[in-house]
Amino acid sequence: YLSKENGKNNYQFYSVHNNRLARKIKLENGLRRAFEHQLFTLHYQPQINLENGQIVGMEALLRWQDPELGNVTPGEFIPVAEETGLIVPIGKWVLQTACEQYRRWREEGLPRIRMAVNISVRQFQDKQFIDLIARVLQETGMEPGDLELEITESIMQNMKESLAILTELKRIGVKISIDDFGTGYSSLSLLDKLPIDHIKIDRTFIAEIGMNANTEALVRTIIDMGRNLRFELIGEGIEREDQLEFLKHNNCTMGQGYHISRPLPTEDAADLLRLARPFVRA
Ligand code: C2E
Ligand code: MG
Ligand code: MG
Ligand code: MG
Repeated sequence: YLSKENGKNNYQFYSVHNNRLARKIKLENGLRRAFEHQLFTLHYQPQINLENGQIVGMEALLRWQDPELGNVTPGEFIPVAEETGLIVPIGKWVLQTACEQYRRWREEGLPRIRMAVNISVRQFQDKQFIDLIARVLQETGMEPGDLELEITESIMQNMKESLAILTELKRIGVKISIDDFGTGYSSLSLLDKLPIDHIKIDRTFIAEIGMNANTEALVRTIIDMGRNLRFELIGEGIEREDQLEFLKHNNCTMGQGYHISRPLPTEDAADLLRLARPFVRA
């Protein structure tokens, strides 16, 4: 009886495992196809100054609409792209496309903001990464300080190598943010040893504002400590007015989230910038 049950469980395990593997292979092949046939697009989500509501940046977010697989979310395909190494060419495309878009917006006379691009550790550690950044800046004539690279705390697992790469990036003059802060195992004081400009407070914390006093205290601590260490703070995933007010009241200077704006297709993002133009100093 026991062994029969065991056998059944094993079978279920392998079957779940195989389904997952099948999906992964599908995604992997899909990613290669999507890259070849240029099925990727970028959406842009505004980042605002919480004090005056002005747009200070746009975060480029990858979108994949596949004729066969439908709309696949980054949450599902980015890990596959990372595992397979496909994130390196895909990430290069993202960087080039976002910077190219920024150049067009500037040529149109739209305000100077920051273009934020997500960078996977795998890309960050790629031997050609620094050259790629330098080349993209040169090709687009973009001010280095207008480009912001969003990396996660996982770079802390290799402090020495990361410090060397970040030092090079700061020499070039780009801005660095730590994305999803609070979800990893790093501390603000450890981050202080790295040349980092912005800390993005993970949206799982923002989601609990107004619901969990402990989380609120934690968010206040991150903001206070961060400010003392001279980081600028961005609250991500702001979905309600009370969350925005809480962050503003507690001296978090920047924010991003559905309550402010969803990530937008290129033209809609451009329209927002056109509206903002008279109010923003270039
Ligand atoms: P992220 O960099 O933390 O980006 C923020 C994610 O939160 C985006 O999801 C955005 O659509 C979503 N978001 C923004 N505001 C809200 C809100 O108010 N509520 C909620 N619930 N969500 C909000 P998205 O676009 O699905 O991307 C998920 C993750 O995939 C990103 O998280 C990033 O880690 C990764 N990703 C996206 N594009 C790229 C890319 O071009 N390269 C790399 N390496 N990773 C990317
Ligand atoms: Mg990000
Ligand atoms: Mg994030
Ligand atoms: Mg994330």
